[in-house]
Amino acid sequence: MALILIVEDNPANLKLAKLLLLKVGHSVLTAADAEAGLALALSEHPELILMDIQLPGMDGLTATSILKADPATAAIPVIALTAMAMKSDEDKSRLAGCDGYIAKPLRFQELYDAIDELLARSGPPDLPLPAPLVVASPSPAPRVRIEVGIDSSGAEALDNDRLGIPTIDMRVLERQLGTDAAVLVDILDMFQESTADIGHILVHAVLAGDAPAAGLHAHKLMSSARAVGAIELGNLCASMEAAGRSNRLSSLSALLAPLEIELRSVHAAIRGVRESFRSILGEPIDIRPSRLPGGPPND
Ligand code: MN
Repeated sequence: MALILIVEDNPANLKLAKLLLLKVGHSVLTAADAEAGLALALSEHPELILMDIQLPGMDGLTATSILKADPATAAIPVIALTAMAMKSDEDKSRLAGCDGYIAKPLRFQELYDAIDELLARSGPPDLPLPAPLVVASPSPAPRVRIEVGIDSSGAEALDNDRLGIPTIDMRVLERQLGTDAAVLVDILDMFQESTADIGHILVHAVLAGDAPAAGLHAHKLMSSARAVGAIELGNLCASMEAAGRSNRLSSLSALLAPLEIELRSVHAAIRGVRESFRSILGEPIDIRPSRLPGGPPND
């Protein structure tokens, strides 16, 4: 098992990646921006780096080029985490400095496979550079509902599948994040806390008339939602991100009510899913107190 550095500014995505790596025995260092990541890479010499591309300040590609230009860090494999599948050759060439890339949302098996392959490649430094490892994004998940054993409040939420889209698609959740109930409970807890925070900030940005800021927060929420199989919430956030980018405040305002409904629905569904895991885990699950505003710590 390896020492792996994760550079990711979205606290929910960071914690998710950390949980997935810890689960299989890796040691994890984390940084919330490129500057902190570069410092850790130099001081701690991780065996592999997961590098988010979209970061505040210096972006992940610039950080990767700095790592690759420094003999002290050039040999560390870097896997880029991208918000979308690379469609064009231009997109791919932009990632040329990276040793591989993974399209978010993270899927546990692809993450593990990519890490294992790159760690196995790390050998004598004089070997010619291998071709970049590419993990293709799968086709969109089929919109089917997987029944889970849930209590009545969760059942109510899962029945509320407007347009036939489940609130939380368990098939997506399990395919992306695995079937370990303890890990999934941790991830859903974390998701619930972070979406409550980001949701508030997003609503306030719209009400304050700041469309670009609302678009950025919608992007963060979309990223987290898609990671846990909250497909419709992710779609709504994608619409809000697009509206924010093109400064369409009226579109953003019109999406506030659907957003609030979907957030409530997702949180109710999560409560139901957690109940179903209670029996799997064979122990009561404590409802954790909400964190204070300001977001989870970047541990
Ligand atoms: Mn990011």
